[in-house]
Amino acid sequence: MPAAPTPRRGAASTDARRPGGDPWKVDLRELGRRAGSMRDWEKTVPAPEGWGVEMIGVPEGAPVELHLRLESVMEGVLVSGEVEVPVTGQCARCLDPVEDTLHLDVQELYAYEGSTTEATSEEDEVRRIDGEHLDLAPLVRDTVVLTLPLSPTCTPDCSGLCVDCGQRIDDLPADHSHEQLDPRWAGLADRFTPSKEN
Ligand SMILES: [Zn+2]
Ligand SMILES: [Zn+2]
Repeated sequence: MPAAPTPRRGAASTDARRPGGDPWKVDLRELGRRAGSMRDWEKTVPAPEGWGVEMIGVPEGAPVELHLRLESVMEGVLVSGEVEVPVTGQCARCLDPVEDTLHLDVQELYAYEGSTTEATSEEDEVRRIDGEHLDLAPLVRDTVVLTLPLSPTCTPDCSGLCVDCGQRIDDLPADHSHEQLDPRWAGLADRFTPSKEN
């Protein structure tokens, strides 16, 4: 049986029917419960607050792009696709601002209430469909937060800050130093200075 035509991306007509205006919730009446029903879910929605770890996170209200497909299956609704999430933070080594966009794959089954999957799964093992609504926010939040580095860096090999003057080492000339070496240590320092031959 041919699938009903799906509205093109960003169809504004559906927005008014969002429960409580929460743009992260999908009204499943638009999808249909017959297994095999499918629809693309292409939307840009604002990030809620509190998505982050200590040094990096998603700014509240930042645009999160959802490139998802919702597929009705026997047990519930399969959500799959990619999300693009802007993150900002601070380099753990030099404290410079860090900005990036995460591209994350998601695939998750949301189980219907009363489905076998729901009945045979532990409470925290499976995402559930709440009545006629499916909330995409917890899925995306968990995916993002698990991906965020605890020690983000501005570049993969950021050298951090000079311990003497606090400037970014990568911004300083290669011969930057505050050397007023105690002559007793000079010999030792030479041994630990990488040779620049070759
Ligand atoms: Zn850095
Ligand atoms: Zn310095």
